[in-house]
Amino acid sequence: MFDRASVVTPGGVNSPVRAFRAVGGTPRFMVSGTGPYLTDADGREYVDLVCSWGPMILGHSHPEVIAAVQEAVARGTSFGTPGEGEVALAEEIVARIEPVEQVRLVSSGTEATMSAIRLARGFTGRAKVVKFAGCYHGHVDALLAAAGSGLATFGLPDTPGVTGATAGDTVVLPYNDLDAVRAAFAAHPGEIACVITEASPGNMGVVPPADGFNAGLKELCAADGALYISDEVMTGFRTSKAGWYGVDGVRPDLMTFGKVMGGGFPAAAFGGRADVMAHLAPAGPVYQAGTLSGNPVATAAGLAQLRLLDDAAYAKIDAVSAELRTLVGDALTKEGVAHTVSSASNMFSVFFTDQPVRNYEDAKQQEAFRFTAFFHAMLEQAVYLPPSAFESWFVSTAHDERAVERVAAALPAAARAASEATA
Ligand code: PLP
Repeated sequence: MFDRASVVTPGGVNSPVRAFRAVGGTPRFMVSGTGPYLTDADGREYVDLVCSWGPMILGHSHPEVIAAVQEAVARGTSFGTPGEGEVALAEEIVARIEPVEQVRLVSSGTEATMSAIRLARGFTGRAKVVKFAGCYHGHVDALLAAAGSGLATFGLPDTPGVTGATAGDTVVLPYNDLDAVRAAFAAHPGEIACVITEASPGNMGVVPPADGFNAGLKELCAADGALYISDEVMTGFRTSKAGWYGVDGVRPDLMTFGKVMGGGFPAAAFGGRADVMAHLAPAGPVYQAGTLSGNPVATAAGLAQLRLLDDAAYAKIDAVSAELRTLVGDALTKEGVAHTVSSASNMFSVFFTDQPVRNYEDAKQQEAFRFTAFFHAMLEQAVYLPPSAFESWFVSTAHDERAVERVAAALPAAARAASEATA
């Protein structure tokens, strides 16, 4: 299948990290998913610790989500008009996340951050955008400077195709460094439209904000008249009922969402202060649109998933995450492998270094070749990890004791492989 794909699709994949280039080997083609398991085209079942890069927080093929989708699809797949489902999903988001007074639905996280930045520029009349090295906000031209995720995986400093003019208004700073942000505001007074940050980064591996970092960003933005944009595409509806906002309570001006809120379908959103959102067309002059925005099938899936995500669901995910973190850490310690299990709520990843990881530079110091050996040993034992040392691992409410036991059984050999690996 990969050979077939490689003929008709660049690199054989429709999103770069899927290609296994960072770890080598042939990507698995999955044909079905149930609960915590994925089954590949050869009929092999894996414990899935990727969960479609976050969205599948109830596991695969959750019966209530599937039923909601089937019910929606039977009524038609797209109308190009307003519909009740999109209103209900917007109401659910607004009810959960207090700083979101109004929300606009889009189809991908990339679209959400791109639109939020355009709105911030339109609202403030300013051009510059501050972002942090290692934070990924989708493949928006202005935000691909020093991004994490696939760009971290491949060590690409930047990408051809983004013009100097586009990137020139992007100021890239080291993560978790408020002094650098202060200096940027001092260097560009009245010019910065917004600071965009992952609410808690997961795209350089999991690197949570230091105490007071997000609050400091908010303060510096407010003092200069810039907007504070919290990108919750990954953390939203995952790290708590109200995402990372529910964890640190720092009130952003704008927020972006995706992944979990789509229930495995292309649905995403941006929202925030009503006075800022009022600048968006057709209420205001900043243009933004989408043929499939608020699609009835995607909104039905997202709404069904969100309605199942109550306090008990988050408690379950947090507990499974904690159990797995302990198992992974213990296995690596037993083999004498230098490592740090880094977590933010139920998101976690393993850095193959025992030095603190506070930013992208720190993350890059790890011995990523050990991850490669670890990854392949897990894969051979039918545990599917993200194929990169710079990505978060994800679990779901469906990860039960049987799934955890299968991971636990695979860990000793994987830890040994990591310890024996050479650069
Ligand atoms: N923002 C963050 C924090 C993300 O993690 C991602 C994707 O991984 C995006 C934005 C882009 O979302 P999408 O892949 O849906 O375009």
